[in-house]
This record gives sequence, structure tokens and C-alpha cells, in this order.
Amino acid sequence: MKQRKLFIAGNWKMNKTATEAVQMVSALVKKVEGLSDKINMAVCPPFTALDRISSILKGSGIALGAQNLSDKASGAYTGEVSAAMLLELGVKYVIIGHSERRQYYGETDEIVSKKAKFALNAGLLPIVCVGETLQEREGNKTSNVITTQLKGSLSGITSDEMLKTTIAYEPVWAIGTGKTASPDQAQEVHALIRKLLTDLFGKAVAEKIIIQYGGSVKADNAKELMAKEDIDGALVGGASLDAEGFSALIKNAI
Ligand code: PEP
Repeated sequence: MKQRKLFIAGNWKMNKTATEAVQMVSALVKKVEGLSDKINMAVCPPFTALDRISSILKGSGIALGAQNLSDKASGAYTGEVSAAMLLELGVKYVIIGHSERRQYYGETDEIVSKKAKFALNAGLLPIVCVGETLQEREGNKTSNVITTQLKGSLSGITSDEMLKTTIAYEPVWAIGTGKTASPDQAQEVHALIRKLLTDLFGKAVAEKIIIQYGGSVKADNAKELMAKEDIDGALVGGASLDAEGFSALIKNAI
């Protein structure tokens, strides 16, 4: 029996208008009613849906998350969204350093750590993503890549702040591809991450940190992944977009 409470979050990416998001979440709330004692749940819709979804989620046991935030507090940064803006909408979690942000928008470990600091200072809980590409895995570089990304992304984070932070291990080759890391492959990297967290923050802290797995998690593979010792939840993309499938995934994970 795991000591850590599982945490499953849905990352909707650039999908759903606010109206579609309201429909999905209204259905999801009914389907997962009463489950929040057993599992922590969150949905991370696009910014434009946060406000309307926030009121629907009140009292539902499902938390609200955002997919990104600015590494600046406020000012002349056209198109950016600050931590304070998210907080005011009832956002609790924020995904930082997703591989799509690293790949398409040039986010480096340094930017990720800056964003994590901003989030934490404002009272938001970061979900910091790390993961290797297929080329890196095939070149036997997974451990090096994960070590560098994790240390860089958490640079300047204190132990107290780490306790408020979730890590998501998302192998880039498994995101949106239908290729899931096998439970053993995922566990191997999760164990490495827990060891790195132990080196950085000590065992007592590392044992408490939620390490999610992400990469083509679905209702039918959630259980075997969650059974692994160091896999404490999932960050789910495609399978979090409809209420039926996402609620089935959550129920299978418990
Ligand atoms: C993700 O992008 O966070 C993700 C895990 O996507 P998918 O579940 O669609 O692979």
C-alpha cells in the first residue's frame, strides 16, 4: 500500500473552447463524485476556460490547473499570463516545462526553474515536467538527460518549496503517440528521479514527492503503471479530453 496519495491531472493542451470545457467538466464532476478521498484530481484547461470552470469545480474535489505561466510578475509582456492572474481565478496547480513548451517555445531548464519559483512565491503548486526524446533514449542518454533537466529545473527550490512541487516524468516519445513506456521502463526512471530528489532534498522530503508518469496513459493501462512503487499518478493528455474516458482512467488507477 502506497503512502503517497495518487494524483491524476488532465492536460488539455490547446483543446476545447470555454463552452466545450464547461460541458466536459460538468459531466466529469458527476462521474468522479466522492473519489477525492482516495485520489487527488485536477484538470488543466486552456487559460480562456479557467474562469468558467473554476466555479463549476468548487466543492467537487477536482482541482484547477493551468498549463503555463509567465516568468515575470507583471508589466509589458504581451500575451503573457502571470501567477497572480491565475491565482485569482482559483487555479491551484500549474504545469511547467512540458516538453511541448521546451520543444516549440524554447523553454530551457533555467526558464522552467524561474517559472517554478514564481509559481511557488505566488502560492501556486508547480507540476514540473522532465523527459527524454526517443533519440536520447536510444543513445542511452536517458539518465543523463533526466538528471540534467531535473537539477536545472529545480535549481533554487528549497526543501519546503519542493514539498509543494509535483514532478511529471513524460518520455517525449510516448506523448500523444500511443506508445506507453512499459511499467518497468517508467519505474526505472521514477526511481532515478526519487534518488536525485533524495540527493538534493533528503530522504524525508523525497519520499513525500508525487512523481507522475505521462505519455499515452489511458483507462486500460493506468492500473499497471500505478502499481509501480515510485509511480504516484499520471499527467494525462489525450485521454483526459472526454469525461467518460478520463473518469474511467481515474477509477482504474485507484
Ligand atoms: C501530455 O502531453 O502531458 C501527455 C501525457 O499526453 P498524452 O497522454 O496524450 O500522451
